[in-house]
Amino acid sequence: MDSLAVYVHIPFCPSKCGYCDFNSYAQTGDIQTLTANAIAEEIRRSPVFGIPAKTIFFGGGTPTYLSEADLLTVFEAVLDAHPPVEGAEITSEANPGTVDASKFRAMRQAGFNRISLGAQSFDDGDLKRLDRVHQSGDIERAVAAAREAGFDNINLDLMFALPNQSRHAWNRNLDRAMALKPEHLSLYCLTIEPNTAFYKKHLRGEITQPDDEMQVEMYEDCHARCTAEGFENYEISNFSKPGLECKHNLEYWYGNPYAGYGPGAVGCLPTAEGVMRYTNLKLPERYVTAVDEGKPIFFESEILSRESERLERIMLGLRLREGIPTEWTNPTDLQRTTHRGWTETTNGRVRLTSAGRHFCSEVALALV
Ligand code: SF4
Repeated sequence: MDSLAVYVHIPFCPSKCGYCDFNSYAQTGDIQTLTANAIAEEIRRSPVFGIPAKTIFFGGGTPTYLSEADLLTVFEAVLDAHPPVEGAEITSEANPGTVDASKFRAMRQAGFNRISLGAQSFDDGDLKRLDRVHQSGDIERAVAAAREAGFDNINLDLMFALPNQSRHAWNRNLDRAMALKPEHLSLYCLTIEPNTAFYKKHLRGEITQPDDEMQVEMYEDCHARCTAEGFENYEISNFSKPGLECKHNLEYWYGNPYAGYGPGAVGCLPTAEGVMRYTNLKLPERYVTAVDEGKPIFFESEILSRESERLERIMLGLRLREGIPTEWTNPTDLQRTTHRGWTETTNGRVRLTSAGRHFCSEVALALV
């Protein structure tokens, strides 16, 4: 392995959004600094220390909720352990309510070159219902501050199928997103996950989402709008200006190795026994104690069988515009999905059709 992708999980947020099932905690104070120091220590002890980074991605949680000093402590540890290769993509997620020009300047000077901004919606009512800490004006201010700090590669995360969201309101969101001229757009359909505040509301009948048909229309509105604005739909839910695909996420989708650091981070690395996927302890306090006491940091790990690797490659590869090699599939299964209008085959690769994009899981299951 001459280079790899590096993911760092920062598990803190100013508050917990009602729909969120990520490993994030509304904690502030000393625990943030203790965790940042522990992550830096985990990185220094990494079994893949010294292997250069093709991509670095700070996610969470909200990395920009850390103080500038704590964020840079972790970042410098990553740079020491994984010197970035020439042209490496170095991203941090950011919440529009937790950034200002000075933090962006410090991040840009340190070496971050891409910002992924959790915009989610430009409607203040939506943002309030989602329990986001920011308002729509903060998104515009954050983009302006990031541009001023020198970031020329900005992603906006946008959510659709929000409670009571109309198609008209969704299109207004797209207008405001496009006006900011992002280089990349990641699209998320709101899903109500167990163990979230939204799930309880959903059980009480307090949440009404647009029906399936409207969700398809909303996706297609975004697809048409992005295409008209010069974006390429290189992955089902991701749109980029040419050449500005998220290189880090492509590493996951191609099934390449990645190191994961921080509470709850997942990593996938080659070992003598095969590819090992591991998940770190999730609670920051437990994670910090384990690092301090030199105990194992991950709480679960598995060696992926060749068959499960193959299944994942198919599931993830189908999401990509470039699709998967035909030889990964069985001709009879492929004929069936093609007959239903979900797949097409050109130049030895199987791709989803525009209808098939709405049935990706079904196609993947049929082909595996
Ligand atoms: S900001 Fe993101 S990670 Fe944090 S609580 Fe909200 S959805 Fe979860």
